[in-house]
Amino acid sequence: MLPDRRGYFGPYGGRFVPETLLAPLVEVEEAFRRAQKDPSFRRELNDLLHRYAGRPTPLFFAKNLSRRLGGAKIFLKREDLCHTGSHKLNNTLGQCLLARRLGKKRVIAETGAGQHGVATATAGALMGLQCAVYMGSEDMARQALNVFRMRSLGTRVVPVNSGSRTLKDAINEAFRDWVATVNTTFYAMGSVVGPHPYPWMVREFQSVIGRETARQIREYQSGDPDALVACVGGGSNSMGLFAPFYEKRRVKFFGVEAGGKGLMTGRHAATLCAGTPGILHGAYTYVLQDKHGQIRPTHSISAGLDYPAVGPEHSFYRDSGRAEYVAATDSEAVEGFRLLNETEGITAALESAHAIGYLPRLLRGHRSLKSVVVCLSGRGDKDMAQLQDLLPSEGASR
Ligand SMILES: *Cc1c(COP(=O)(O)O)cnc(C)c1O
Repeated sequence: MLPDRRGYFGPYGGRFVPETLLAPLVEVEEAFRRAQKDPSFRRELNDLLHRYAGRPTPLFFAKNLSRRLGGAKIFLKREDLCHTGSHKLNNTLGQCLLARRLGKKRVIAETGAGQHGVATATAGALMGLQCAVYMGSEDMARQALNVFRMRSLGTRVVPVNSGSRTLKDAINEAFRDWVATVNTTFYAMGSVVGPHPYPWMVREFQSVIGRETARQIREYQSGDPDALVACVGGGSNSMGLFAPFYEKRRVKFFGVEAGGKGLMTGRHAATLCAGTPGILHGAYTYVLQDKHGQIRPTHSISAGLDYPAVGPEHSFYRDSGRAEYVAATDSEAVEGFRLLNETEGITAALESAHAIGYLPRLLRGHRSLKSVVVCLSGRGDKDMAQLQDLLPSEGASR
């Protein structure tokens, strides 16, 4: 499904930005439209995705996990095996290529957990672009390892000390940089969020996940899967998996948000489950806000899902019923992390562990599902220190 000319999916999306950003956004949009039609751009990107990022990532039949959960066939789309350890590089390779085509020498990005920062720093290093990443100082302290990774890749990490000193403040600061430097600088957005054309463009770059899945499932069965399941932070790994199946109404979509300590506690980041429409970071979409329109503080065990808004296309999917959105709590995510380690020897990122942790509930509630594809958006190495504190006696169970 395409957004309309003004960048709307139904009522959601658009471009709610200061005047000074309109021209740069149009420049990005036109460059992307040209690139999409240009066989040499597509060839260059596909070549990088294959030879640099390691695509196609496997679609793995998780036989042990399937048996443990009662028999429905569960397939894992292994984005954890992508270079740098998550799906994020699919997008930053695309955007940095586009930056280079536009003749920009510099790329900037925002990051929360640091994963998008690392992916931008990586693509920037590969393509010889100068790179600056805005990061809340609170997040820098929590994600010190990723800060070091970015700096090792030659990127300048800029601390943001305003507001809650987390992702949403970093985005504001990065926009401010862009207004001042737009002639030389490309803004690389980390998810299907922000003003048009980003939600659409990032979705297109991530759709490689769903396109490969549609092809790879045929190695196992003759038809499409019954359901697709993915975690939703800003919504890029999920939208990348879902979008190529949009017209196939028989394939059900389930987006799993961060339920934190539980929706009743208010300490969560489950925007589509518990939010209301509003404007954040240049788009009209579901956001977590109080009755005065102030953005509410969020919580999740996984930094990558800890964001108070969501991509506008997901808001449209939610209202139209194309996808169902649910929340998995911190403890369900830890349970999912443990379950996948134990049954398949795969250490999932805490973000992806939300999707795994939701599976027992999904399969109990939908007995007719026979084959389910789960997007394993990233690997868990980055979360080991945090989990070690939570699960001190791990390793003695077998
Ligand atoms: C960033 C991240 C997410 C959340 O972002 P989406 O845009 O919702 O995909 C999920 N999983 C991993 C491993 C991530 O790094």
